[in-house]
Amino acid sequence: MEHPVKKEETAPPEIAGIDDNRRLSLAHLPTPLLHSERLSQLVDCELWIKHDDATGGATAGNKIRKLEYLLAEACSLGASVVLTCGGLQSNHARATALLARSLGICPIVFLRTSAKQPPLVGNYFLDRLCGAEVRFVSPEQYARRSSLMEEAAEELRQAGERPYVIPEGGSSGLGALGYVSAMEEIRHQLDERGPSGGFDVVVHACGSGGTAAGCTLGAAQFDVAPEVCAMAVCDDAATFEARIDELVGDAQRRAPSLKRRAKCIVDDRFIGPGYAEVSDEQTEFVVRVARQSGVVLDPVYSGKALFGLAQLAGKYRRVLFLHTGGLPGLLAQSEVIAARSWPSR
Ligand SMILES: *Cc1c(COP(=O)(O)O)cnc(C)c1O
Repeated sequence: MEHPVKKEETAPPEIAGIDDNRRLSLAHLPTPLLHSERLSQLVDCELWIKHDDATGGATAGNKIRKLEYLLAEACSLGASVVLTCGGLQSNHARATALLARSLGICPIVFLRTSAKQPPLVGNYFLDRLCGAEVRFVSPEQYARRSSLMEEAAEELRQAGERPYVIPEGGSSGLGALGYVSAMEEIRHQLDERGPSGGFDVVVHACGSGGTAAGCTLGAAQFDVAPEVCAMAVCDDAATFEARIDELVGDAQRRAPSLKRRAKCIVDDRFIGPGYAEVSDEQTEFVVRVARQSGVVLDPVYSGKALFGLAQLAGKYRRVLFLHTGGLPGLLAQSEVIAARSWPSR
């Protein structure tokens, strides 16, 4: 498969005002923007869903939008290997591995786990399927993931390779531009079909801050919403606020035309028992959503974010919920979820 850079015919449009960034055309765009009457009742607001769970097939989810920018840079530097990291069931590592393969680049993924032989399911299975080189790292080692990857890159350089390192979650100023352009895509959809006036807020799950940073800049730039509500799935609000600020600054240095930013609220009240751990209440919510609407959320990210929105009942009138994907993570937890008590209907 060939992925032309943006100046060619099949390339995605440039973000208005950002003309110095090359971008690959990797995602299936535009993704649907749909009003969900059924879920509006459940979460007590007028709910619209931006289906970034449909940005691809096995590559789907929010990471591919960031990777359109990151892998374009990798290609322009002539990378032969990309290195990235995440949890064992990282959607980002899986998307990076598959997309690297589509570009003829070798993927190396650093996955955090304390298991010696983790079960071959979900995202990790897809990493293996495409033959990514998997390096397991303990939670303690993972704390210094950036230097681990830099050291590995240096070794590869010595061996004559051209490594390109992508940070956790693809969250850098460059990666965040993927969500600036997502907001521009939504602006076009609003102009074509409404709802006129845009949204009160963009709500999404927040794990490494890049999506929040891009949405914060893009929502203001393209008048999509005055506010972004980033539902944390790990770490506390103060940590994310600092991280998002940093990423916004980096993105603005890359694209100086992005001057305004929407208000960004990080809500850390709905993490539940911990990262990738779900309460009974959250599990039941994911089940209820699937039964009421056919919308499939994942328990690690999008399920917690929409669950959080439901708890804010009445705070917002018209909401854009960004469905960020995560299906392989759900499938990896099928046994855990099946073991819980489910609502009867
Ligand atoms: C990575 C991820 C997120 C969080 O996005 P960040 O930009 O890392 O904050 C949300 N949902 C899913 C399904 C993800 O894989």
